[in-house]
Amino acid sequence: MMAVSKPTILLIDDDQLVLRSLAKALEKAGYNVLAVDGYDTAMAAIHDKNFDLVLSDIRMPGKNGVDTAKEIQDSLIANGKKDLPIIFITGYSGDEEKLQTPLLGETLYKPVDINRLLTIIRDYL
Ligand SMILES: [Mg+2]
Repeated sequence: MMAVSKPTILLIDDDQLVLRSLAKALEKAGYNVLAVDGYDTAMAAIHDKNFDLVLSDIRMPGKNGVDTAKEIQDSLIANGKKDLPIIFITGYSGDEEKLQTPLLGETLYKPVDINRLLTIIRDYL
C-alpha cells in the first residue's frame, strides 16, 4: 500500500482545553497537528515542518491571532515558501469586523462546530 502523507495543521490557541480537544478531533479526521499556545511558539515552529494550514485563536496574551497569522505569512514568503490558508477561531463576536479577518481567512466562532471546520479545511487542502 502506498503511504499517503497527511496534511499538517499548525494549531494556535492559548486555551489548553481548546488546543487538546481540537487537536484530538483533527487527528481523528486524519491530519497531523502541531499545537502551540501563542505567537512565540508559533513563530518558533513555522519553519520546523511544512505546514499546510494554520488554525488560530484570535484573542491571546501578547500578540493576537491576526497579527500572528500576518507574521507567519510574511516569514514564509521571506523564506521562499508559499503562504498558507488561515482559519481563525474566536469566542468574541465582532472580532471579524474589528480585526478585518476576512482579508486573511475565514472565522469560526467558539464553541467550534467540528463538522463545519472539517468542511472548510477540506475545501482548502
Ligand atoms: Mg484565546
